[in-house]
Amino acid sequence: MIPSTTFPKPIKFIDTHCHLNHPDFNADIEKVLQQASDEVGAIIVPGYDLESSLLACRLAERSETLYASVGVHPDQAGCWEMSRLDSLRELLSRPKAVAVGEIGLDYHWHPEMKDKQIETLAAQLELAAELDKPVILHCRDAHTDLLDLLEIYQGKLRGVMHCWTGSMNEAIRAIGIGMYLGFGGLITFKKNVDAVQDVAMKAPTDRILLETDAPYLAPVPHRGRRNEPSYLPLIAKRLAEIRLIPVEEIRIATSQNAARLFNLPES
Ligand SMILES: [Zn+2]
Repeated sequence: MIPSTTFPKPIKFIDTHCHLNHPDFNADIEKVLQQASDEVGAIIVPGYDLESSLLACRLAERSETLYASVGVHPDQAGCWEMSRLDSLRELLSRPKAVAVGEIGLDYHWHPEMKDKQIETLAAQLELAAELDKPVILHCRDAHTDLLDLLEIYQGKLRGVMHCWTGSMNEAIRAIGIGMYLGFGGLITFKKNVDAVQDVAMKAPTDRILLETDAPYLAPVPHRGRRNEPSYLPLIAKRLAEIRLIPVEEIRIATSQNAARLFNLPES
């Protein structure tokens, strides 16, 4: 038996949000994984509809370091039907499906279908609570409604608010409800990120996670180009600067947090 305080190998980073199921990676996924493999020990691939969730599961079943998350994104709420829950339930029974997501609310791009988004999200929160799976949440300009909904499930749900963009007060509320906060390329940007960096500085160490959100939101100095999981250490380095602690501490804390939240083997 290895005591839980030591690790058989040096602990690696965990990318908790990386869309390797996106068509941008069709041509060179093996190379992308290879380039990340020295520093990144595990990657969670979130689906955004049934097809991409199935693909995430298939990718995860082929690669030791990949895990899948299964869900319907608020962008897709327009075609939500309750019958989709059966398909999601089936996908969530696959061996490497570790979470429900990416689910959530987006009032920035889809303010016209708030009710439909809430219906879609609520059904999937219910499923996550029933199956005891963590949730991966997308939230854009909708923090109050999302947090109000999550509060109903307080004590029954755990998860991550991915790509955190909210205020400090909203972060305090999210953490109180049992959520982790995901930080990505945004914290490396130079402009209009003061509020996010403030939360990144003050969030409790046991509630922070790292993510790339690849292929989106590449960190500086790759901003504007395709993001990749091998860029995760750049985000960790910036988070370490913001929090005034060594990057090793960020790596250990965020990887332990991710392993705990998603029930991953420590690697
Ligand atoms: Zn995403």
